[in-house]
Amino acid sequence: MEEKIPEQQIEATEEFAEEDNLETVTEEINLFHQFSKPGIVIIIIYIVLLIVGIAVRLPFSKVIHDAKEAGNNSSTIGEDSSSSIEATIGNEVKISGTSDENKGNVIVALNPEETFLAVLENESRKIHITMSTYGTADNNDLQWESSDTSIATVSETGEITGVSAGKCTIKVSVKTDSTISTEVPVVVRHLEEIDGCTYIDGILVANKVYSLSESYDPGGLTDETAEAFYQMTVDASNEGLNLYVGSDYRSYSEQVEIYNDYCTSYGWELADTFSARPGFSEHQTGMVIDCNTIDDAFGETAEAEWLALHCAEYGFIISYPADKVDITGYQYEPWHIRYVGVDIAKEINELGLCLEEYLGIDLKYKKYEKPWEEDSELSTTQSTDEYTEY
Ligand SMILES: [Zn+2]
Repeated sequence: MEEKIPEQQIEATEEFAEEDNLETVTEEINLFHQFSKPGIVIIIIYIVLLIVGIAVRLPFSKVIHDAKEAGNNSSTIGEDSSSSIEATIGNEVKISGTSDENKGNVIVALNPEETFLAVLENESRKIHITMSTYGTADNNDLQWESSDTSIATVSETGEITGVSAGKCTIKVSVKTDSTISTEVPVVVRHLEEIDGCTYIDGILVANKVYSLSESYDPGGLTDETAEAFYQMTVDASNEGLNLYVGSDYRSYSEQVEIYNDYCTSYGWELADTFSARPGFSEHQTGMVIDCNTIDDAFGETAEAEWLALHCAEYGFIISYPADKVDITGYQYEPWHIRYVGVDIAKEINELGLCLEEYLGIDLKYKKYEKPWEEDSELSTTQSTDEYTEY
């Protein structure tokens, strides 16, 4: 509600205002009369000098300011004031943090996201570099160099191609200041197929992409695997823990029966979510053991905790870690361990990788197409993105 002011009151208010103005003007006139003419001239000269002084000072302060910022660019790497730009090879640039265009285009640090990169011969891979920079920057500001082009080459855009098996480093540096650089160790691996099975640097591979032939049949656990597992159970037992074989070797023909039974009962699409197709089961390698009870409850036991901490000391890795589901195609299986030898197991553990990443075959798992013996009547559309292998 607006309150109406009576007209008389409005008039009175205006009168008071006029009176105030009059008083102010009168005071100013009196003030001028108090100064002599030379005094007024001096005041005017002082005001002019003041204005000129400010005008001269402004450009000087800008120069000082710029000089300070230039100092920041060259000496304070990784300070909070710098913005972070993540550039991925392939001309894709993502900017995180705030970017100050006025500071110019200066890269102050390069950090690789990968501390290890494996690539197969004749295949190419991308690595990811994070740039700390003032302003914007992209791949055009970087230059790439391989320490040994007979092992791996690198393109102008930073794409690495494996030439022959071996190790080298890829150096990336800033074009305008090569002292700002970083290095990524690269391993080029050799893939060979022997009797329908795939070996990468001598390691037999059985996963969602690479399968074993029907004739690959070690007949049981390999001697090395069995001995390593036995030693592990003895040491665990000394700490009051009970590790035992829940399931180990499975032949191709056994897997055919298992998989076909599941397909008959559930349809191939659902069967694929929890059962490996014949040839694709890592159990057929004779280097795999499912420890104790094959269910999620095992993950909560003291045995599972001990296994995760110590299995690498005996040459085992957990094939399907929780954070690698999109690479392996299998859900986390704390019970499923694969023998790869002590040195390799320790290295994989320290690098925080799964076997696929370590071997340079961490291509995202592509869901299966229909199996060779499709039973369309029993097919179901039910499907998930996680896969369990028993
Ligand atoms: Zn298993």
